Amino acid sequence: MEEVRKTLRSSLPGAIRAASVCTCVCLGFFLQGCSSPVSPVALTEVLLPRPGKPVYGKVAIVYAMDYRIRAGRMETLHPFDMRKNERVYRALVDRNMFAPNDVFVPEEVTRKQLLRVHTREYLDSLKDPLVVARCLEAPRAASLSPDELEARILRPFRLASGGTILAAREALKYGIGINIGGGYLHAKPAGGDAFCIYADVPVAIRQLQKEGKIRKAMVIDLDAHQGNGTILCLRDDPDTYTFSMFETDIYPIPKAAGDQDVALPAGVDDSSYLNLLSRQLPQAFSRFGRPDIVFYVAGCDSVKGDSLAHLSMTHAGIVERDRMVINSCREQEVPVVMTLGGGYSRDAWRAHSLSIRQIISSQRE
Ligand SMILES: [Zn+2]
Repeated sequence: MEEVRKTLRSSLPGAIRAASVCTCVCLGFFLQGCSSPVSPVALTEVLLPRPGKPVYGKVAIVYAMDYRIRAGRMETLHPFDMRKNERVYRALVDRNMFAPNDVFVPEEVTRKQLLRVHTREYLDSLKDPLVVARCLEAPRAASLSPDELEARILRPFRLASGGTILAAREALKYGIGINIGGGYLHAKPAGGDAFCIYADVPVAIRQLQKEGKIRKAMVIDLDAHQGNGTILCLRDDPDTYTFSMFETDIYPIPKAAGDQDVALPAGVDDSSYLNLLSRQLPQAFSRFGRPDIVFYVAGCDSVKGDSLAHLSMTHAGIVERDRMVINSCREQEVPVVMTLGGGYSRDAWRAHSLSIRQIISSQRE
């Protein structure tokens, strides 16, 4: 890993910056960047749990209107855009990538499912608004009543976490499942952090293992912040493998020890990033062997200008990155589940939507 870092450093003079105090906010999204057009798409069409229809018979899209965090005035005061998922969904429907009726609408993850990863004490502690406020790094959340906390914050998190389970089930049937949400990579067994409350990916892995549908699962996490929570949830499990590429000098510090960690200096551009990924992806599959499923955390906070990271990728680079991951899985006929993770530049929603458009279009025969 050090050799990789030296190589990147030498190609990026002065790229290493001082350690950042930034924290990853996995559901929050930059309000200043809320520039997407307001679509007339009726969100009520994706309100109640129901099966959908895979696009081209290969791509299951999972989303629900109620993924959106509704925290009253906290939304307007918080520095992040709570509507990124909705903007991605609307942009894709506007582009006729799929119809609202095609979308698979999930149920909430259950307490029983959460208990396969999280401690009972932690889940019980979430009744306390102070605990949730700390997880969200939003002190105003502490002023919500227990009912408001449940309806406006915890339920949306549970719904989006249920979406990752549903996307995984559908990926096993059709090849690709995309949850327009989820990717809460900092949630640990006994605590939430950095806007992550439930560890949706580990919970989905345990659920599918419990159902006997999978044994071996790989997590590919390309969020700019290391998925320390995911790693801790899956620690010491030989049937899971975590491969992460992340910026080294930002949250979380210290990092957790994943199975394949690639630490990047600030300033890495498309060319360097994609070069490295093209070498690291085959290594992940050769080290772990063929998994029964891949969970991909496709954070877009590696785009240049992101408020919580310092990498220098473009939207085109993100599209190519995601294409490489999806293609690597499909070439080996491994089902793949994509979750959105972070992304806080002004138009992070656009990078996600461009990438998902490419993924869907590439499956057209
Ligand atoms: Zn992040």
